[in-house]
Amino acid sequence: MASGPRIAVVGLGSIGAMTSWQLARRGATVTGFEQYSPGHDRGAHGGETRIFRTAYLESPDYVPLLQRARALWRELEAETGADLLHLGGVLTIGSGATAEMGNIRTSVESYGLDVEELTPAAARSRYPQHTFEDDDAVVLDRDAGLLRPELAVLHAGLRAETLGATVHRYTRVTAVEPDDRGVVVRSDAGEERFDHAVVSTGPWAMELLERLGYAAGTIHVRRPVQAWFPARDPSLFRADRCPVFIRLTPLHCYGLPATDGSGLKLGLSYEDNLPVDDPRALDRTVTVAELEKFRDTARRLLPQVYPDPTRVSAYMEGYTADHHALVGRLPGSDRVTVLAGFSGHGFKLAPAFGELGADTALGAAGTPPIPQLDPARPLGPPPGDFTVL
Ligand SMILES: Cc1cc2nc3c(=O)[nH]c(=O)nc-3n(C[C@H](O)[C@H](O)[C@H](O)COP(=O)(O)OP(=O)(O)OC[C@H]3O[C@@H](n4cnc5c(N)ncnc54)[C@H](O)[C@@H]3O)c2cc1C
Repeated sequence: MASGPRIAVVGLGSIGAMTSWQLARRGATVTGFEQYSPGHDRGAHGGETRIFRTAYLESPDYVPLLQRARALWRELEAETGADLLHLGGVLTIGSGATAEMGNIRTSVESYGLDVEELTPAAARSRYPQHTFEDDDAVVLDRDAGLLRPELAVLHAGLRAETLGATVHRYTRVTAVEPDDRGVVVRSDAGEERFDHAVVSTGPWAMELLERLGYAAGTIHVRRPVQAWFPARDPSLFRADRCPVFIRLTPLHCYGLPATDGSGLKLGLSYEDNLPVDDPRALDRTVTVAELEKFRDTARRLLPQVYPDPTRVSAYMEGYTADHHALVGRLPGSDRVTVLAGFSGHGFKLAPAFGELGADTALGAAGTPPIPQLDPARPLGPPPGDFTVL
């Protein structure tokens, strides 16, 4: 039976489930609140697969955290027996002049990462799934591949329970109220007092964070769509023949082999994701205009799939204006930890953010590993010109 500090984790999605696991490992008395049940597909972690990569196009500053995340993914697999991370490589394709390619190169040079650079001719013969321009840079990150998000969240939540955590499923939290003695969490289950609360409510974060002092719009919500395309020759899209890919130019998109071996799952860029005013009233209907963009992308860049998707699904994600998350103590309070705004690239790092979140909640975190994550930094309105995933 855990006897450590009483910590509430509000939202057991990608980051909250990992935080609960890490807190339970450290002997804290953990109570999780989840409005659905851990592993559902209605938030930021739906869609069967997520990309893991180490040569980081967003910023080389993330590489040590990514390496820590990879080790923790393996620990979660070992503790649960679940198969979550497949390192089949990630191919980044596009103009060598982009800032993203520059960040990949700096990541590789600074940390000695395991990558292979291919000429367009070599890439054409090895990867007939794609079209390549003569001036494309093509980089295969070998310390990269795909994750199974719903299963990972499910198993992290279950592991936390095995280690002593209590999880309130289908229980929505309506307020988190810090005071001198601790923090009160109000939910469908009533109200309960804790020593500390972690707020990890993903796209719904502003519902609680506005009342905790953050300005409206600090995190804005977008609706990424993913589409599944059947392969002309499914053997080309087996995970061992088809690395995950990110295309930077002439169009921004990314793709992962479908889990059933039938073809490819495709996603587009941040700019293609429609804004969501109210995450509780998300319209999941995919418009014909959105479908046309997917069809056009498949026709131009992916000659080995039929350009008519057999499945499309809409999800949600919370973004900050600079597309770096808020990770740390709520400004001005030692009773609340904020883990929010993962801006389209948080899943691969989820166990490392969970570890940071647990250490922050327990007062054991050192200097933040990445200054860009400071939850007290000034954030302006969303600029809308990022290309991350
Ligand atoms: C389509 C798509 C593709 C992506 N691709 C990648 C990728 O390839 N690689 C990558 O690294 N990242 C990717 N991301 C980003 C990544 O998935 C997210 O950054 C990450 O899942 C965010 O986790 P979260 O915990 O903040 O949100 P969530 O996983 O949504 O968790 C929030 C949880 O809080 C619960 N909750 C909310 N409000 C309440 C409340 N009031 N009371 C109780 N519970 C509540 C929700 O039900 C939910 O379970 C992608 C995101 C999307 C949407």
